[in-house]
Amino acid sequence: MRILFASSEVHPFSKTGGLADMVGALAKAAARAGHEVGVVSPLYRGIRERFPAVRRVEWHLELPLGGQRVGGELWAFSPESRLTFYFVGQPGFFDRNGLYNERGVDYGDNAERFFFFSKAVVHLARYLPLQPEILHVNDWQTGVVPLLVRHQQQVEAWSTVPAVVFTIHNLAYQGWFAPQKFELLNVSPAFWSDVEHHGGLNCMKVGIALADVLTTVSPRYAREVLTPEYGEGLDWLLRQRQARFFGILNGVDYDEWKTTDNPHLKYPYSIRNLSGKARNKAALQEELGLPVRPNAPLFATISRLTEQKGISIELAALEEMLHSDIQFVLLGSGEPHFERAFLELAARFPQKAAVRLGYDTPLSHRIEAGSDFYLMPSKFEPCGLNQMFSLRYGTIPIVRAVGGLADTVVDAAENPTCPTGIKFHSFSAAALVKAMRKALAIFADPNLLMFYRRNGMRMDFSWERTVREYEAVYSKAKEHG
Ligand code: ADP
Repeated sequence: MRILFASSEVHPFSKTGGLADMVGALAKAAARAGHEVGVVSPLYRGIRERFPAVRRVEWHLELPLGGQRVGGELWAFSPESRLTFYFVGQPGFFDRNGLYNERGVDYGDNAERFFFFSKAVVHLARYLPLQPEILHVNDWQTGVVPLLVRHQQQVEAWSTVPAVVFTIHNLAYQGWFAPQKFELLNVSPAFWSDVEHHGGLNCMKVGIALADVLTTVSPRYAREVLTPEYGEGLDWLLRQRQARFFGILNGVDYDEWKTTDNPHLKYPYSIRNLSGKARNKAALQEELGLPVRPNAPLFATISRLTEQKGISIELAALEEMLHSDIQFVLLGSGEPHFERAFLELAARFPQKAAVRLGYDTPLSHRIEAGSDFYLMPSKFEPCGLNQMFSLRYGTIPIVRAVGGLADTVVDAAENPTCPTGIKFHSFSAAALVKAMRKALAIFADPNLLMFYRRNGMRMDFSWERTVREYEAVYSKAKEHG
């Protein structure tokens, strides 16, 4: 198939979270499975410097945006056969420090930025030699694309209109804008009812309403968002579209997330020989200024610091658990009050807790390799990646049983013959504390510890498998489109 992905972030060029990982890995896996693949994303600051092979394409974009016409450039890079990344250059919109916000404040012109980007996506779908059969768009930033495709069909002859697949990576971020922003779309007022939500313009709603097929990133989250508890005000619309809505678990890019031949890890190790893991633990403890103690169970979290990730119950649980003989490391950034709370915790428990604020991929590999347990007590979790990285790294995940966490981790209560982690249910510090105490019992029994680790390391969430599920969805989209 000929597939064009569009995403506001794509690994390894730009990333704030799992969206970038998924698009980068799925595109690569689809190309390797024999499909012709293009990926469109914005040309953010620094991409050209970090990837000098990204080249300007002789193609000038000029697109209407409300009363204006906005120009743009096209850049491209083909790292392997059948796979081309396209970058939409518009320095006024994308040559900035952040992707969506700076210091926690959203850019005031995000509607302009991502409507322009979405228009560029549709333009490329129309005119690129690729002539995609499938246009796979992701999250609110490209939510208006299915609407723009319909608009384009109405205003000009377009013989090869692609079927549009819309993937929800996180329903909590919907792209809400003032109703006046509608005019930036330059489409018929008849479309207003598709975008309108409580009087405003809701980009997530458009994608859900108008895409040919919808997906989200785990089967459990696909069921959860049909309920008011997890539906973020759009559960009613998702229920209407339920017959065309599928949950497909994200995969892991094991070319990068591996315990051997990994440039970020000092000591390689494998399921057969885990001694390197102990050495990575010692190196991590030393790096973070914690006492180098093999017998202290080391818990870790790498995360955006937001309420979604269960940070409030994690802080409360740590408050209690740090009185036991454990160590804890956090790598994360996000809401300032959470950042302060972690720094303050580390200051009170300097021998037990280490906190690194910021975004650091190499350190995230060292933490995954060097830790014993990984904490992910999310309030909701569309898929979640770190629990899957943890499994591969022999680090036992402790997760709340929601969304992708419920789908990927196996608790002893579910399957005593092959447990891979610890699950808890209630969103409370007490439930997390209880789960962490179970972890201490596992840690105290070397055979049990090894059993969990090996079970986890054997799990396979590779994209090669997942790509087949997307192929089936693409076929359905083509029937419908
Ligand atoms: P979300 O997309 O909701 O943030 P996911 O678990 O799906 O959560 O994906 C998060 C991705 O971002 C993972 O690859 C994780 O390792 C990475 N990540 C999050 N915070 C950091 C950080 N501070 N430093 C390095 N990587 C991080």
